[in-house]
Amino acid sequence: MDCDKCDESAVMHAAYSGLHLCEEHFCRSVERRVRKRIRDDNLLPDETTPEDPETWVVGLSGGKDSVVLTEILAETFGADPRVELVALSIHEGIEGYRDESLEACRELTADLDIRHEVVTYDDEFDVRMDEVVEDDPHDMSACAYCGVFRRDVLSRYADELGADKLLTGHNLDDEAETALMNFLEGDITQMASHFDASLGPFEGAEDGRTRGDSEAFVPRGKPLRDVPEKEVALYAHLRDLPAHITECPHADEAYRGEIQELLYELEENHPGTRHSIMAGYEELAGMAAAEHRGEGQEEYRECERCGGPTRREVCRKCSLLDALA
Ligand code: SF4
Repeated sequence: MDCDKCDESAVMHAAYSGLHLCEEHFCRSVERRVRKRIRDDNLLPDETTPEDPETWVVGLSGGKDSVVLTEILAETFGADPRVELVALSIHEGIEGYRDESLEACRELTADLDIRHEVVTYDDEFDVRMDEVVEDDPHDMSACAYCGVFRRDVLSRYADELGADKLLTGHNLDDEAETALMNFLEGDITQMASHFDASLGPFEGAEDGRTRGDSEAFVPRGKPLRDVPEKEVALYAHLRDLPAHITECPHADEAYRGEIQELLYELEENHPGTRHSIMAGYEELAGMAAAEHRGEGQEEYRECERCGGPTRREVCRKCSLLDALA
């Protein structure tokens, strides 16, 4: 089958758009979607000087999503005086698995010539995920601990590195899964905070909608969220990027796995399902976020232990660390 844009052979077919694309046109279409998302979400600063660019911290795990995002951002903004990129990687204390993916991160950032910082749970919390799964007092999933620790490290280090934006490599499948899980659980609060934390445009976006950025957190963005997971993987392969594709040995989000299968089947039978889930979800989540703000949701205050932002006396991370201790 030929590419719909030129005479080259197609390397992929996107059922949701009907397009067959060759390597070059496919890669360009991924890059275009990322740049459009950056524009639509109003991520680019209006006023900066070459002496004082915006700092964008990119969460870089070494998996395909964050590797592709970092590559496209570096290609797009490498020579742009408005933006300075810093890659931030986290070692959770998962022997073997994370060591290999950090190698991929080092190779990529050296190739792209961007600053790379590595933080470990061991140094930050005196905790290693390999030990947490053995001694878990709550019998929770490893990811429930790991996700809380990761969010804490990302937002604290984004602050420390002087980040104006914190960008992560969530793809369309990740976002549609989270949307469906929040919806099926009837979790309106989660929908509202998902919107406030990372969906929707920043203030000043063309459609006039705004996002309630809490001053307690560095504003977030997910520029890869219009690109399906398979296309991210294909892009990484075609561009020969050093992505680490092994699954974490502690991955155990069973419910997310069920949602993944459900979405896969829906997308196979009804191409475009993920896009329409996200379009509807953003509307709903935006309304939920506006309503929550109108209701005067409790303000963030400082955690009694670590001083981080929380709506409780002691933040979730400190509670989990107490239980592990
Ligand atoms: Fe952490 Fe779970 Fe991701 Fe493994 S799969 S790195 S335990 S969040």
